[in-house]
This record gives sequence, structure tokens and C-alpha cells, in this order.
Amino acid sequence: MTNNAKIVATLGPASSEKSTMLKMIKAGVSVFRINFSHGAHEVHKQTIKSIQELNSEHGLNIATLADLQGPKLRIGEVEEGAVLAKGDILELTSHKVLGTKSKVYMNYQNFPKDVKVGEKILVDDGKIHLLVKETNLIDSVSVEVLQGGPLNSNKGVNLPNTKISLPCLTKKDLADLKVALEAGVEWIGLSFVRSAQDVLELKQHIKNSGKDAWIVSKIEKPEAVVDIDNILNVTDAIMVARGDLGVEVPMESVPLIQKMIVDKCHIKSKPVIIATQMMETMITSMTPTRAEVNDVANSVLDGADAVMLSGETSVGQFPVEVIETMSKIIGYVEDSADITVKKENPPRIRNERFITKSICYNASKIADQVGAMAILTMTHSGYTAFKIASHRPKSKIIVFTSNRFLLNTINLIWGVQGFFYDKMESTDKTFLDIKAIVKGAGIVQKGDIIIKIASMPIKNQGMTNTLKISEID
Ligand code: PEP
Repeated sequence: MTNNAKIVATLGPASSEKSTMLKMIKAGVSVFRINFSHGAHEVHKQTIKSIQELNSEHGLNIATLADLQGPKLRIGEVEEGAVLAKGDILELTSHKVLGTKSKVYMNYQNFPKDVKVGEKILVDDGKIHLLVKETNLIDSVSVEVLQGGPLNSNKGVNLPNTKISLPCLTKKDLADLKVALEAGVEWIGLSFVRSAQDVLELKQHIKNSGKDAWIVSKIEKPEAVVDIDNILNVTDAIMVARGDLGVEVPMESVPLIQKMIVDKCHIKSKPVIIATQMMETMITSMTPTRAEVNDVANSVLDGADAVMLSGETSVGQFPVEVIETMSKIIGYVEDSADITVKKENPPRIRNERFITKSICYNASKIADQVGAMAILTMTHSGYTAFKIASHRPKSKIIVFTSNRFLLNTINLIWGVQGFFYDKMESTDKTFLDIKAIVKGAGIVQKGDIIIKIASMPIKNQGMTNTLKISEID
């Protein structure tokens, strides 16, 4: 694997065989995503076990992202053939009924209390537009159809204007979270994040469980776009979840939101995943559209840490070929164009991590200036891996840690390649060892320049404070 931008692939019926997963890894997957919106716990547990087995059988560091559904709103069952026409009046009820073109159930009990007259409701990925005309504040909301179409069972509902009072973690999410944490996943995806508070709530649940999982906040609500700076302060990573985001905000605003979020993630050193419909055509076709190729390429050029596949790999006909195609696009773009950050971000404020931040920033700058083949860093917390990558150096980023969980976790980060290393004798010995490891792995050769950073004295496992430039002999 030589690409810097990583691939996150969603597993599902099309890709749950271990042999298929291994082929996908060989084709370029760094992180497998399990979408807890679908499937049974027993199946998810088995899938997570398969990823862990592949890691130990093949010496890999593939991370697992367990994606929680969050407060996803849906209508209930609807009778066959119900079609809404512009101008029709429809009742949304809090009571379970078999839906018709004039009355349908929605799984949000407090909706009549939370919604206001004049707010918009979007159904089925924004295909149907409704306008709230009246609410009885108890169990019934009357809406006018602004844009009609077939009303199909269990379709998603988006409320871009309504202040939703549902908790960000539903009962189902808490049960799913327990399964994911017990199975030992590295990353938890939080859907429909509205504010930093939602992320802090999940953090507390993870802390209470005694596990270490890290959080990917999925940005798919307008409130989250507004609160993005605060969310970035508390999350570990971001996903631009363009599927729901493109329904909740005008879809033409999504490309600029994507670029804005990527730039902010660079500044805060938080990995960012671009998700949804990247290679949608490859669900049923061996060839993506030119627009899809452009989308992947432009996301890499924007500076995304990772690009994600959903239906393409979970239910698609070509789960391996789509990864091969995506890897080819990423590789070509990275070989042909400079991936840089929009704004240089040298540390200026003398806070507690100032020395480490300065080492990471300057390691990246020196690496570019001397044409270093690789930056080698030791980490206990992952901090230097996140920091160095956020400056997007041209050299490879090789991270050594004695924490196997962290080794998988950092596999999401742009350009990062991890190695297990657990000796802490002396800085000299460590530098010699890690140099030998990268040479042995064929990452560097005689004559290449490398930059090594570490904390000195190494035994104290303190903050990174040392930078050494050397030539491979
Ligand atoms: C999205 O909406 O873009 C997304 C990734 O969410 P999900 O696939 O979980 O609905």
C-alpha cells in the first residue's frame, strides 16, 4: 500500500466472506465500516472477529468503524401503490397504522410537539417535499405535499428546520454500542450529530465501558455544520456524510461544506472521511462514471484522509474491483499532483503540547526541504501521527507504537503506516532499530534521507522533543 489517502469500505452481504475481505484489503482498504443500521448483532460480532483474525493471520492493522444509526426518522409501513400528488394533504401520526396516501405513521413520538407550522419535511432521500400546515401538539401533524411521488414503506424522513428533541443515542444505539465495544472496535461513528454535546455524551458512554474506542462524528445536519468548530474540539475524526447532509441542506451547498470541513480538519489535526455515492454506479457496473472518478480525485485533492464506500462494497456486485478502481484514482492523483494544506499551521501558542507540535510541524517542513523519504515517529497516544499527517508532508509517515489497538486506529489517518515496536532501551538503540525495520520493509533504501522524532530520554515516555536527520547506510 503506497497511497496516502485511505479507503474505508462498508461490509455487508456482498463482502462478509473472509476471503473477499482479504482481497479488498489487498486492493487497498485500510478501514472496514460496519453499518449498525442493518444486520443482526451475531453477524456483526462475526464480521468484527473476521477482521481481527485477518489482522493477526496476515500481520495487518486494519481498523474497524462501527457506525451507529443515531436518531434516524422513518415513516412506517405503507400500503402498495400509495402515491402523493402536489397539493394533497397528508396526516403524520404517532400511532402505528398501515399507511395510505392520506395518513402515515412516523417513529418520532414528540414530533407534534417539536414541529412548527411552516417547517419543511423531506421523505425518501428528499424525493418527497412536505410543508407543515397544522399540529395538534399531541399525536397528529397535517402537511401539504409540495413535491409528490410514490410513498414507500419505512423510508427515511429528514427535518432540516425542526429542533429535534430526540437524544443522539437511541436505545438501539446503546445496545449496538455495547456490542461494538465488547467486540473491540477502534472507531465508533456517531450519526446525526447536532452539537459538541452529542459527542461528549458518547465519549462518556465509552469511558464508562472502560474501553478505548475513538469517535467519528458524522456531519449530516445543518446544526452540526454551524457547530463544526466546537465539534472538532471534542471529536477524534469527522465524516462528511453527504447522503443525509445533501437532504438536510441544499445539495448545491455540499461541495463547499466538504471543502470547508476538510480545511478545518487539517488545522485541528483531525482525520476527515468523505462519504457516500463516491462510486455508486459500480454497485451494478464494472465502470464508474467520469463524474464519480472526478469526485474521488477532487476529494483527494481537497486533502481528505479517507474516501468511503457504502453500498458499493456492502451490497454491490464488484466489492473488490471498486476498491481497485478507487486505489488507482487515488494513486494517479497523488503521483501527479501536490496534496497540500490550504493554510500553513505552525504552532504559535505556548501551551502544554507546544514543543511536540513544533517538532511535528518542523519535521514535516524539513522533510519536504531535504527530500526525506520518510518521517519516523514513536507514539504512545497517537498524537504525533495525527499532528505530522495534518501538515501533509511529501515523505512517508511511519509510526511505531507498542499499542496494537492504536496501531489499527491510526490506519485511518492520511499517509500513516504503523509498525509494532515495544523496546524502550535508549534513544540511540530505538533509532537504530526503527531504521532497520523501515529498511527491512523496503520503505527506504541506502542513500535515502529520513527524519526521526522521539521523546528523550525514551524510557520516560514523555512528550516528543527530539528530531534527528540521517541517511540510510
Ligand atoms: C450518509 O448519510 O452519507 C451516511 C454515510 O450515513 P448512512 O450511510 O449511515 O446513512
